[in-house]
Amino acid sequence: MGSFKNNDELVDYLVNSGVLKSKFLVRAWRQVSRADFVPAKLRPQAYADEPLPIGLGQTISQPSTVAFMLELLRPEPGQRVLEIGAGSGYVAALLAQVVGERGEVIALERIAPLVQQAKKNTERYHFSWLELLHADGGLGYSDGGEFDRILVSAAAVALPPELSPQLGLNGRLVAPVGEYPQDIILRERTSEGFKEQHYPGFVFVPLLSGKVAGE
Ligand code: SAH
Repeated sequence: MGSFKNNDELVDYLVNSGVLKSKFLVRAWRQVSRADFVPAKLRPQAYADEPLPIGLGQTISQPSTVAFMLELLRPEPGQRVLEIGAGSGYVAALLAQVVGERGEVIALERIAPLVQQAKKNTERYHFSWLELLHADGGLGYSDGGEFDRILVSAAAVALPPELSPQLGLNGRLVAPVGEYPQDIILRERTSEGFKEQHYPGFVFVPLLSGKVAGE
């Protein structure tokens, strides 16, 4: 498990290990520094390929796991993307960097103080097309119309059936699902219906229902 001095070293490691491949993602990863998304006292570990605590019992995901999920998700410039479980805002920022100003990212987080933190963490990037909302995303974002991409960043026991209709044609949904350890699921909407692939052996914090004001 790598530990690195700066963001570029972390990106080089993810590329060299083969998990990070596509040009939009590599470019975004170089522009979004993970150190902006971890608590100040954990900054020295910000570039390690490890999950780290962000407070309120939650974690910023392990970079190689994020890379694996985003390679399956395949976000592209100009797309509308929904993230459920924004946490620190790190993955939302990577997505916003990829889709760019012609795109849109809506990221939902159920714990209010984390939403505030994520807004602060992403401020310096000036992503006017990124919306961080305090909301329970357990059933997705039904007011949001169709999305090109949906990323779930917390694990549900089963994939909520409400999510699939929120995916547009040729849309891709990536979500961790099941009991510990979880599978990462890729669900694609094609003209013939839905296709699903499972990738076992990942660990995520649970997808819970209800909004939390925070203590
Ligand atoms: N993508 C985040 C990972 C955070 S961990 C990052 O880059 O930091 C997953 C997050 O999902 C936690 O912050 C948790 O509070 C949130 N979460 C869990 N259930 C949720 C729900 N139903 N709606 C919205 N957020 C939820």
